[in-house]
Amino acid sequence: MAAEPTPEILAAFEAAKGFMPVVEGLALYDAATGAAKLGLPLLEVGTYCGRSTILLADVARQAGTVAVTVDHHRGSEEQQPGWEYHDETVVDSEVGRMDTLPTFRRTLHKAGLEEHVVAVVGRSPQVAKVWGGQLGLVFIDGGHTDEHATNDYEGWAPKVAPGGLLVIHDVFPNPEDGGQAPYRIYLRALESGDFEEVSVTDSLRVLRRVG
Ligand code: SAH
Ligand code: MG
Repeated sequence: MAAEPTPEILAAFEAAKGFMPVVEGLALYDAATGAAKLGLPLLEVGTYCGRSTILLADVARQAGTVAVTVDHHRGSEEQQPGWEYHDETVVDSEVGRMDTLPTFRRTLHKAGLEEHVVAVVGRSPQVAKVWGGQLGLVFIDGGHTDEHATNDYEGWAPKVAPGGLLVIHDVFPNPEDGGQAPYRIYLRALESGDFEEVSVTDSLRVLRRVG
């Protein structure tokens, strides 16, 4: 039986701004519930407004661990003004740049999950460099250029504990369905021999560290 969020948590997830469809969210929740048994932190790259963070936070709460979520909160390339995924309500008008941090904090507050999350504001490679410990789960959902996806893989995959999970979002084997950078790091993870595939749900791939 798959672990499922309560109707309240699911409603909070659905109400949050963001990009993760419910079906993939449920797969992430189930995977995270298994990974949380290791008792280690669950880390996300790509907080945005906290939609997927809600799920990791609720799993962490139940397991007595913590969700860590990393973002510079200035948005990815495709979220900038004039681009397909831009939302003008997440622009800091004083600075003239995107700032998803205030919306993220409201999302977590509304969901009652603030206590279970450590939010790190910064660039993923810099945070990875100063992050020492092992992780029960790494969820890569940050920048979608090859540079960003590669940095996320190289920075965070080595920190997944044995038996822990590496979850990658926006994996599209067919170029017509989307950018190829997440797909390329997914292939790299499998080819490394360090990870085996656990599940595929639309564009969400769950891999486990072997050995
Ligand atoms: N997980 C979110 C969606 C994340 S969108 C959800 O469920 O809705 C991708 C996010 O990655 C954006 O907020 C962007 O600011 C962040 N991002 C992109 N490149 C980054 C980098 N190098 N370091 C930190 N965050 C980054
Ligand atoms: Mg995504």
